[in-house]
Amino acid sequence: MLTVTGLRRAFGGVRAVDGVEFSIAPGEFVSIIGPNGSGKSTTVNLISGVLTPDSGEVLVRGNRIRPGRPEAAAAAGIARTFQNGRVFGNMTVRENVDVGLQPTLRATRPLRALADIPVLKWISLLAELGVALVPTPAARAERRASAARIDAQLARFEERLVPRADHPTYTLSYANRRRTEIARALASTPDLLLLDEPAAGMNQTETAEIGRQLAELKAQGQTVLLVEHKMDLVHELSDRVLVLDEGRIIAAGTPDEVLEDPRVIEAYLGR
Ligand code: ADP
Ligand code: MG
Repeated sequence: MLTVTGLRRAFGGVRAVDGVEFSIAPGEFVSIIGPNGSGKSTTVNLISGVLTPDSGEVLVRGNRIRPGRPEAAAAAGIARTFQNGRVFGNMTVRENVDVGLQPTLRATRPLRALADIPVLKWISLLAELGVALVPTPAARAERRASAARIDAQLARFEERLVPRADHPTYTLSYANRRRTEIARALASTPDLLLLDEPAAGMNQTETAEIGRQLAELKAQGQTVLLVEHKMDLVHELSDRVLVLDEGRIIAAGTPDEVLEDPRVIEAYLGR
């Protein structure tokens, strides 16, 4: 499904991602772990086109994705969530999820030109999700059939989102905003779902609930790349775990193999 080759990205002198390579098979659930600052989010940003790599390629089903272009990644079937949780606060839950439908509508007018205007931050988020501001006529027609698909995504989260479907997301709890973001990402029925610390800031009950929902997604055959610090979640869900340290993959294998690897233990405990 996904192949990443020789991915590099530096910020000034910091080599955030320094030659990362891996593949993910269709239906596989792969997790990336690693200490703070090891390059996990940068890797997700490079794969989703939010950042442009200094070198390296991202391929989806063997096709090279145009680098640094979120709309190209979205059109190739990649959807993502953000580590800090990004939803449109003044839009309802339903409207947020509706935004996620749009990448499948092939409304591909890029908004990169506007993305640097600070006052239009929400436009920047649309652009980073690969969503067009002005849908095509075909897109509008398809949208009319979209209500059922939005409901199906909200139903994943049961009583959490369904009763709040028409509430603006700024009125929601942190956990519900994060659930909304996952529903938005899933609305495009992505071939590859990228989740950057979906359980960060969630309590134990909420984390266990997210775990059940991700397990259900996995059972449905969804291909997932998960970045997560909570090892219970990683252990329970992952077919394979990649360990990043200082921008490089220092270990890879099954959860059991990786979590007992002395290099991994040192990378975590050594700082
Ligand atoms: P992780 O997600 O593993 O915690 P990141 O990918 O966010 O790590 O960061 C990797 C390194 O790159 C860190 O040293 C971080 O400070 C740096 N970095 C990430 N994004 C930027 C940015 N936009 N500008 C400058 N430095 C950045
Ligand atoms: Mg991160």
